[in-house]
Amino acid sequence: MSVTISSKLPSVGTTIFTKINGISQQYNAINLGQGFPDFPMDERLVALTNKAMKDGHNQYVHGNGLPALREVLADKINHLYGSKVSSTDEITVTPGATYALYTAITTIIQPGDEVIIFEPAYDSYVPNIEINGGVVVPISLEFPHYNINWEEVKQKVTAQTRAIMINSPHNPTGAILRDADMQELIAITRDTNIVVISDEVYEHLVYDGRKQVSVLSYPELYERSFVCFSFGKTYSCTGWKLGYSVAPAALMAEFRKVHQYNCFTCFAPAQYALAEFIPEKSYEKLAADLQERKDFFAGEMTSSRFKALPSYGTYFQLYSYDTISSENEYDFAVRVIKEAGVAAIPVSSFYKTKEEHSVLRFCFSKGKDLLGEAAGRLRKL
Ligand code: PMP
Ligand code: GLN
Repeated sequence: MSVTISSKLPSVGTTIFTKINGISQQYNAINLGQGFPDFPMDERLVALTNKAMKDGHNQYVHGNGLPALREVLADKINHLYGSKVSSTDEITVTPGATYALYTAITTIIQPGDEVIIFEPAYDSYVPNIEINGGVVVPISLEFPHYNINWEEVKQKVTAQTRAIMINSPHNPTGAILRDADMQELIAITRDTNIVVISDEVYEHLVYDGRKQVSVLSYPELYERSFVCFSFGKTYSCTGWKLGYSVAPAALMAEFRKVHQYNCFTCFAPAQYALAEFIPEKSYEKLAADLQERKDFFAGEMTSSRFKALPSYGTYFQLYSYDTISSENEYDFAVRVIKEAGVAAIPVSSFYKTKEEHSVLRFCFSKGKDLLGEAAGRLRKL
């Protein structure tokens, strides 16, 4: 007799990225769906990783991350955000930011706890909360600028609110939080027991002269926060799945209890390499490179019938297709793959409520030839 199990995530299917990648491959389309660069990562970081392996750094490192790596991360945080965090007690290296977010959520959520998220939201948040018995409280960002309506947040905070999740720069919209948003969040959470989980994986991908506004720059906010980062985005190596979480010592001590029996320790050679590479500050050049690709794609798209929505960060640009079709976003995305040969992500898949605004998300962290070819195909629609 075959066994049956009752699903912990009954309403979850395959992620939109896997689905769109599959259809894109089937139709041999240009894939501007899933967010990853198609250009090579820095050769020096590859060489340093190679060297670490040849030098024999192939065994377990400290469960919280290689100490030398945590030290350079603490220096970087101090340099960028003016925050003095302890490399021993407040930083943990993780297998990617998704895992860091999941671990933060698992650390704090008890069944029945409410978590406020802003939709559209990166697709791992909802299942991460629900598998822990948490209750998702979605708040829609205001279309088309995708700002947070802080009055609505105040109304949705209850005695059961355990956490508020923020993400800036924001996937999928490219919106960014400003100082005024942080002040609202500080005021709302002051004198409460609410934890903030801040997803800042795109910290270095901020455009048009704007600057990253990090929770780490606000001591009063940081006191109640987990801040999650990804080396994949900063060093153009998403396949490495390596990141880190930063939190005050008491919160981090609990995080590490979950982490130590789930993963224990991450890939060692890359940690040796990053410890040497991070102080060289290659991340300072990243935004200019990506801005060029973003501007190039935008230029190629101006004569199309797609309309760009504002985007200030990330790998992504939303385009409205409301003058082209009244189809829902998923159906339109599939038709664009089949008929135009370009894959993009329907933004409705980032909503628990499946809100529809006739927008698709295009990833511009690609070579200009590919972006030019994709835009040429899209102009025909
Ligand atoms: N958060 C957001 C908003 C992302 O776009 C991504 C990208 N995958 C992640 C978290 C996860 O990063 P990682 O690949 O390091 O798990
Ligand atoms: N963060 C990437 C994106 O938003 C995808 C990562 C994944 O496939 N889960 O496109």
